[in-house]
Amino acid sequence: MKEISLYIHVPFCKQKCFYCDFPSYACKEGAMDEYVEALCKEITKRCNKYIIKSLFIGGGTPSYLEEESLKKLMETISALEFKDKAEKSMECNPGTVNRKKLEIIMKGGINRLSFGLQTTKNELLKKIGRIHSYEEFIKNYSLAREIGFNNINIDMMFGLPNQNLSDWLNSLDEITKLNPEHISSYSLIIEEGTAFDRLYSEGKLSLPSEEEERDMYRMGKELLISRGYHQYEISNFAKGEKECAHNKVYWQCEEYIGVGASASSFVENKRIKNVDDISEYIDRVNRNISISEEVYENSREDNIEEFMFMGLRMNKGIDEQEFIIRFGVNIDSIYKRLIDKNIKAGLLIRNEGKIYLSQRGIELSNQVMSDMIL
Ligand code: SF4
Repeated sequence: MKEISLYIHVPFCKQKCFYCDFPSYACKEGAMDEYVEALCKEITKRCNKYIIKSLFIGGGTPSYLEEESLKKLMETISALEFKDKAEKSMECNPGTVNRKKLEIIMKGGINRLSFGLQTTKNELLKKIGRIHSYEEFIKNYSLAREIGFNNINIDMMFGLPNQNLSDWLNSLDEITKLNPEHISSYSLIIEEGTAFDRLYSEGKLSLPSEEEERDMYRMGKELLISRGYHQYEISNFAKGEKECAHNKVYWQCEEYIGVGASASSFVENKRIKNVDDISEYIDRVNRNISISEEVYENSREDNIEEFMFMGLRMNKGIDEQEFIIRFGVNIDSIYKRLIDKNIKAGLLIRNEGKIYLSQRGIELSNQVMSDMIL
């Protein structure tokens, strides 16, 4: 049987964060039970011919599901065939977790939790529309440790409205004291259609300058490294071996199945997207008709570009030999001029068969990536 990764989408949230453009919805709790029923049918139908090598249950807020639905989801997952020691992650949001739920999750075989915290400053948490306080997060995190979760990620954000450099560094300082195995550190992006997008266009958001944001990134990274984390991707830091195996599947352009409304898959060179609408998703699953809304076959050029964009996100960069294996040509036959240009500008480094972003290149990664468009 073929090995593949699995993403499961749970599109419910207690409240929509002001910056969030993910396919997740507040006030649709009424559909939760039926959704999970449909989701479990889709999981069983699509995954039974594979060995699952990594699992990520994301959203939305999977930990917002009621205990009975969580149990059902865990039972369905437990029936799948997993590779030995497969990483199985689930996103949890503070304010939606309790002992019972964490025990169900643990029993279901989940071996990695990812907590969305973003900042330790309560005033900022409110400002970005989070439902929880820092104290609530601490309670949930401690409970997870007590129950036995020994691989935990914390998501953090910088560049928030009214956040200054010392707020950011204090937040990182606080959470490193908790000793999570993994920390993701993202910069705020004002996405179209979000509450922040509206406030921004009305001139009501006071954001840090680009220079301040760059300082936050650079000094945040230095702080994490000084606390024993290594950076392995633009926004991701891990202790020891605890890099996120599932996310590396995306960055290495490997295959995955996405189940649930709005989920995407990459299988047999096709990008497939499921319908967004929750009711339509449930209806289609129950009527046993296709839940995919878009199917796109990647061209060779798409694959080359994706390999470059994703590969350059990782600190280990692009493996020149792997490029030859995948595309049958030397990377120079396509990108020599652009690689040389970026090396000259100090943004790329080429060393022992690898091409990767320099520290400055990481800060200006968008510039380098746009050069890789064919
Ligand atoms: S909890 Fe996560 S998915 Fe839900 S609205 Fe906030 S950022 Fe978006």
